[in-house]
Amino acid sequence: MTHPLNVAVIGAGICGLLTTRELLREKQQVTVFEKSDKVGGTWVYDPRVEAEDLLGLDPNRSIVHSSLYSSLRTNLPRPLMSFSDFSFEDKFYGDPRMFPGHEEVQKFLEHFAKEFGVSEVIRFNSEVVRVDFKNDGFVVEWSTIEAGLKDEVFDAVVVCNGHHTEPRVADDIPGIKEWSRKQLHSHNYRVPEPFRDQVVVVIGNGPSARDISKDIAKVAREVHLASRSSDVKVSKVDGYENMWQHLKITRVFDNGTVVFQDGDSIEADTILHCTGYKYHFPFLRTNDLVHVDNNRVDPLYKHVFPPQLAPRLAFVGLTFNQRLIFPILELQSKWAALVISGKILLPSEDNMLAEVHEHYRELDENGFPKSLTHSLWHKFDYIDWLSDQVGLRVDDRVREIGTNLFEKWTSRANGLRDATVHDFLKAVS
Ligand code: FAD
Repeated sequence: MTHPLNVAVIGAGICGLLTTRELLREKQQVTVFEKSDKVGGTWVYDPRVEAEDLLGLDPNRSIVHSSLYSSLRTNLPRPLMSFSDFSFEDKFYGDPRMFPGHEEVQKFLEHFAKEFGVSEVIRFNSEVVRVDFKNDGFVVEWSTIEAGLKDEVFDAVVVCNGHHTEPRVADDIPGIKEWSRKQLHSHNYRVPEPFRDQVVVVIGNGPSARDISKDIAKVAREVHLASRSSDVKVSKVDGYENMWQHLKITRVFDNGTVVFQDGDSIEADTILHCTGYKYHFPFLRTNDLVHVDNNRVDPLYKHVFPPQLAPRLAFVGLTFNQRLIFPILELQSKWAALVISGKILLPSEDNMLAEVHEHYRELDENGFPKSLTHSLWHKFDYIDWLSDQVGLRVDDRVREIGTNLFEKWTSRANGLRDATVHDFLKAVS
């Protein structure tokens, strides 16, 4: 490809900001399309909810991007939410805690965008509605309130639109589709007040389920957590008078009864699904060269490049279940920018496809469902592979904190989150 390339980046969340910085460093001509009026994506708190459709089932609903709730504090400490040359440990914007509130992260990302000149190439309030592969480039069509629809041809497109907006719900529970009491997805949870004096069932076992159940327990009559995992201890939750952990729900009845696999049953007012999200690229037209199947974005070499469209189309930020989110996103964005710029060569299309299929075979062999294709939980070598490619190693101290944190993070009460900076670092170093 000739230089400089005209590259479109979709989204100004962490991935869009990082990728743009790396592309600018490679002297490419970058345009970032951001549908909102701020940088930070998920970290821009939005008090609105999708009130007409709290489960997010209707594809035509009016979409709110961020899934943050008002009380959210990071579930990772500052050292793990830092970039190699822009640390979150020595920058404070009003909330110096080791696990700060969400505003602090948004301000950190705003600072990042200004510091590296990324803000200057962002077109705010510009929503990409179509990306069409044409001959040697991509037609990007976007819409703004003032100018309506416009389009432009780009040499390459990097998709950084996030994957925490389109809810996945537990719709396979017998009776749940007919249940007429209130149901919502955590995407539409903001504050506990609407659940005052209610009996609430929270489905899920991830960070959102744990956090939101505690938030709601402050005002609700009872909170019942339901988990599909058989590892959970069925009992009253330590430290709470009104919260119980159950196994999964086996059936719900229209009179409000919820039956759990552990034999217990209760009458609930609300069921809250903290059951994760779906990848969603409503703007992308690739003649099926890349598609989403049960949360597998198929096919993607190293979770970034669709072999048949590489290196002109890339996805940054699809991996999940990773301990070092920010460092991995930084490495991924560097790798994507270097590949797009021709400084790193990809294997042949056939070899990339063969590697993707080998990855699928491994997942099958180990009993992992398609929906875990982009999970890095069992793939510790990915970070090392990316590091070797781009010649940047994640700091040993950050790795050590990551490893120790997860070893010590055994109790649900996770006292480390409220420890002082000094005590926290002593515990994890
Ligand atoms: P996003 O932040 O979602 O950004 C995507 C951007 O794309 C948005 O600005 C959006 O407006 C824009 N966009 C989307 N579609 C279009 C379009 N068609 N046209 C133009 N613009 C578009 N990570 C941590 O490291 N620590 C934590 O404590 C942590 N807590 C989390 C808590 C919650 C509730 C959630 C949901 C996630 C959390 N994460 C955490 C993970 C978090 O998602 C990542 O840290 C990061 O925000 C992902 O960045 P992103 O750039 O991929 O996507």
